[in-house]
Amino acid sequence: MEVLRASAMGFCFGVRDALAAALAVAEPHRVTIHGELVHNEAVHALLAGRGFRTVAEDRRAAALPATEQVLITAHGISDRERSRLLAGGKTLLDTTCPLVRKAHAAAVQLAAEGYHVLVLGKRGHVEVRGLTEDLPGFDVIGGLEDVRTFPHARLGIVCQTTVPIAQARALAQEIRCRNRHADVRFLDTVCEPTKQRIAAVEALLGRVDAMVVVGGRNSNNTAKLVELCARAGLPVVHVNAAAELDPAAFTGCRRVGLTAGTSTLDASIEEVHAALLALQPGHLPTGAALPPAAARDPRCAG
Ligand code: SF4
Repeated sequence: MEVLRASAMGFCFGVRDALAAALAVAEPHRVTIHGELVHNEAVHALLAGRGFRTVAEDRRAAALPATEQVLITAHGISDRERSRLLAGGKTLLDTTCPLVRKAHAAAVQLAAEGYHVLVLGKRGHVEVRGLTEDLPGFDVIGGLEDVRTFPHARLGIVCQTTVPIAQARALAQEIRCRNRHADVRFLDTVCEPTKQRIAAVEALLGRVDAMVVVGGRNSNNTAKLVELCARAGLPVVHVNAAAELDPAAFTGCRRVGLTAGTSTLDASIEEVHAALLALQPGHLPTGAALPPAAARDPRCAG
């Protein structure tokens, strides 16, 4: 079985820098990670093994972390939360991604100019919470079902950094259609690494019989890559690790695409790649031509 790797996949610079900052901490047991550093189980295991404490994302506001030093994740926090931690005597090791900061600045700028801010993203996601907590008013638009006619004369749109840009543009267009009375301003705050990873998957569509996406179960950008393949009608297998691969899912597959979310360790990607190559014996109809899509083995559906 041939494995075609996406030209861009896995760790983005924001996650790489955040993890490097964490791994450089001399005394991890004296540091609390304020939420999940990234949404990836292998990374959590690595950090827990080093001795870091982690506050669950939905418990961050419940109490002050027990340690004096607090590591802010790449997803960022609001100024309000930053002030609360500082007022509580905490020192911050801030690994907020610069592109998340850019999205915060865009939202704050729109609000300052009198726009009601609409955030295209996942309601309740930790990045979206950080993005919205400092705003006087906002709405989160998760999909077309959330688009309505708003009473505001000015609507300013920003995006969670990991929203597929095509989805963001479609939502912005729908917002415009439903709010012809309003001055609608759209600021594209989707990050470049997210765009590159989506474009790389799109380039593989039509060239592979199935796609394997490596990434955490609660990773938003990983979920978007899975969604993209599924929407295109491509069989897609989402795994966290090589051990989760089911050989039966690849019966009859000649070419498989490989991609990974921005929080996936290089080691996990390489393990899955090696495991896919190892599936070859007994699973490839030797010398058989690639069957047309409609005639492919249905078990190649993950
Ligand atoms: S996904 Fe984008 S915004 Fe998020 S950490 Fe990576 S580069 Fe930064």
